[in-house]
Amino acid sequence: MSLLPVAQALTQLLSNVSATETEIVDIKEAGGRTLSKPVYAKRQQSPFDASAMDGYALRALEDGSYPNIVKMIGESAAGKRFNGSLGYGECIRIFTGAPVPPEATAIMMQENTKKIADHEIELISPVIEGRHIRKAGLDFNIDELLLETGRTLDPVALALAASSGNSSFSVYRPARVAILATGNELVTPDQTPGPDQIISSNSYGIGEIVRQHGAQAIDLGIIPDNLEALTHAISTAIEDDIDVLVISGGASVGDHDLVHKALTQCGIQMDFWKIAMRPGKPLMSGRLTTQAKKTVQVIGLPGNPVSSLVCSYLFLSPLLAVLNNRKPHYDIRNALLTADMPANDHRQDYVRALYEIDEDDRLTVTPLPVQDSSMLSFLAKANALIIREPEAAAASSGDRVKIMMLR
Ligand code: AMP
Ligand code: MG
Repeated sequence: MSLLPVAQALTQLLSNVSATETEIVDIKEAGGRTLSKPVYAKRQQSPFDASAMDGYALRALEDGSYPNIVKMIGESAAGKRFNGSLGYGECIRIFTGAPVPPEATAIMMQENTKKIADHEIELISPVIEGRHIRKAGLDFNIDELLLETGRTLDPVALALAASSGNSSFSVYRPARVAILATGNELVTPDQTPGPDQIISSNSYGIGEIVRQHGAQAIDLGIIPDNLEALTHAISTAIEDDIDVLVISGGASVGDHDLVHKALTQCGIQMDFWKIAMRPGKPLMSGRLTTQAKKTVQVIGLPGNPVSSLVCSYLFLSPLLAVLNNRKPHYDIRNALLTADMPANDHRQDYVRALYEIDEDDRLTVTPLPVQDSSMLSFLAKANALIIREPEAAAASSGDRVKIMMLR
């Protein structure tokens, strides 16, 4: 049976997937969410002409010049403006963020002045007209478009929105992603494994990928290699108003690999199974429309921890992006190989590797020596994956290769 190319599998997975519905969230809960409507300024920033410095706000003499010694007649502080009016050749003490009196023509910073008496200031450097006055509306004006639809509410976006008087947003509902692990040999990290058991790790890595996309991870624990238990867990998960079901393990063709059978029995329409990639060949995907007319995407990942995570980066991450109405994005770059690599077979290879910037500022990449798909320690050391196309010819040190950045 021929294996499905990676790009084709991804296209199939993402076809018919649409963004989740939208909802309104308060700014305190909005971090990391994706805007489904643009954000416009509700007010002007700065709302008044403001001082950019601690110093003195000056008004020139009638002829436009400035005296060397000026009379100080008051003070304007942030939050409390000077209420008088500034005469020719006078000044007030002013602080950063304080309103500048309309008559002021420049700000002289404190460091360029000398206080010679209680109400007399000597200017020790030339005055520059308009200097250090931030005009009203310098940052933005009312009704100005500040953030476009699709923008993630990252730290700067949140701060900008807050400063413009926006305290709630229309965003996409976080996708609900249920995660199941299956295998008789698996226990959770807080349990002591029996003699033939190992600790289940996949759900934690997958859960974190889900959260990094602003989606909600629902860990449904470990299910044994038992068809009845699996079908029960799958149908229960699907009825719990989820958007995505991710199952790791049991994906291959061994006697105890029951996921494909269980999914089919649960009525899931399988789109593909077995991809021309390494790691991750047994990856499968399908979908089901529930009685409530909601489409649930299902991804069955291979159990090997590296396969499981690499497949999540390649398939689950784009799916989560689309559910947020974002374009899937991988950081793919060209890098210079520092070692020879053998010719590739018919599967697209994702080789755990270390990229570096060398002394000549070039991006170089070195494949890690061991590529066993059970070895999380090497995936954790890697900061990139070298992408080797199916049937790629042998590559030599110095050749350009494509890499996908992981960190
Ligand atoms: P399977 O896909 O069930 O054939 O599993 C392939 C390999 O991955 C086996 O060595 C399993 O023990 C291992 N494995 C399966 N599920 C997990 C998991 N959740 N965490 C860590 N290793 C797993
Ligand atoms: Mg298994």
